[in-house]
Amino acid sequence: MSISYSENLSDYPHKGKVGMPELCETEEDLEKKVALMEQMIRSSLYTVAITGAGVSTAAGIPDFRGPKGVWTLEKKGLKPTCETTFDTATPTFTHNALCTLERCGYLHFLISQNIDGLHHRSGFPLEKLAELHGNVYCEECELCHSRIVHEQSIDSYCLKRTGNVCNTTKSNGKLLKCRGKLRDTILDWEDPLPEHALKMSEANCSKANLCLCLGTSLQIRPCRDLPKRTKKNNGKLIIINLQKTSLDSIADLVIHERVDHVMKLLMNRFNLDNNDGNVISTLTMNPVANIFDSSLYNHVKRIVLLSGKRKSGKDYIGEKLYEKLNDEQQCTLLHLSEPLKIQYANEHQLNGQNMMDSSAYKETYRKDMIRWGETKRLQCPSIFCELAIKQKHLICLTSQHWIVCDIRRYTDIEFFKKYFHDKLLLIRIQSSIESREKRGFIFSQDIDDSESECQLDSNVEWNFVFINNENDIDNFHSQINKLIALIRE
Ligand SMILES: [Zn+2]
Repeated sequence: MSISYSENLSDYPHKGKVGMPELCETEEDLEKKVALMEQMIRSSLYTVAITGAGVSTAAGIPDFRGPKGVWTLEKKGLKPTCETTFDTATPTFTHNALCTLERCGYLHFLISQNIDGLHHRSGFPLEKLAELHGNVYCEECELCHSRIVHEQSIDSYCLKRTGNVCNTTKSNGKLLKCRGKLRDTILDWEDPLPEHALKMSEANCSKANLCLCLGTSLQIRPCRDLPKRTKKNNGKLIIINLQKTSLDSIADLVIHERVDHVMKLLMNRFNLDNNDGNVISTLTMNPVANIFDSSLYNHVKRIVLLSGKRKSGKDYIGEKLYEKLNDEQQCTLLHLSEPLKIQYANEHQLNGQNMMDSSAYKETYRKDMIRWGETKRLQCPSIFCELAIKQKHLICLTSQHWIVCDIRRYTDIEFFKKYFHDKLLLIRIQSSIESREKRGFIFSQDIDDSESECQLDSNVEWNFVFINNENDIDNFHSQINKLIALIRE
């Protein structure tokens, strides 16, 4: 998508003050101010940051109200000239520094008005990021509000339908795809802000001891009101921006300087080398760059891992368990193969919808996808476990029971053991070859003898072995009931 997407937004007269002079601290003042900033960050128990266009100018993306900003030039009848596109822009020092601060426990939530997706691409954890004005890489389902992240920017804005359809599995007890229509997430001037992102931002600013505003002139509501919540909580406010801002008068520290320059000095003081600064993640959602935060899921009581051969009926059993457990929405169904398929389709520019359907199309790609999945797993063994949880983040945050339908690896089990060891139930589904054949199983070389199909055949201590043969309905139901009792124990 072109960086000058802004000319496609509707006309809007209230763009705030534009073209104000850019100021610059003396080196002496700057040093003192950064020292104070370091102290304030170290003594804060909970810190949020709000970013604006000023953190991305170093990536070649023009701001809006600076001397060469989009709205400043527009007033003069001019347009910005730039060669950068959203797809070629890379995260700046500041984007990476914010990741480092988060990883080291100095930053707890990040709110951005930028749509360039650079926080996302620098590896900032999605569950701690609110993008208030949208993200050029994201589509959102108008029914279930799942977000789908792409490798390339989406050439659509103003929340229009993109023509794509949602393939998220519905959580109503049936394994149906949602099929909702997808829209881009880029807001037009008068569009309301995304409700969840705004609520999270308000809640986090209200409980913060410190709010950092970076590269934003704080002219747009409701963003300009967020730091006031921190002040109301007796928290402190630091503003770093080249131009004066609307909240300078209530800030505890104001630094008029380029954000990257300030962040370099700050990281030096913290003795944090920003070595992530040189690494640009190629996977858009890169859990390798984040530490999995299991403390978000302390409420979980049981995680059921289901394993079984093709056509053993593991999806069906997962669905049955889900139906029985999902009173008061206390259960979530996770499929490790879902993020694998979505990421594979993205990276190979395939049609995600066809990939998810059980069609000849899928068979063509199945073998290649298995190989591709292996390479990704070698880089990060838990990648698909983490992505599956991230994909259903909101549901996972409230569900007491998780059912993971397609465990295939020792590393899948190890991942869940590492974070949820005392909550796990390992279930193996066994089904005779005759029963599987009745359900349509046909042996396929390189698939049914591959590691992903066979690794868990041995050396696992299962908590429960579920015998699932055809024409044994009584036995099926009694085993389901035993399992439910085990899960609720
Ligand atoms: Zn949906």
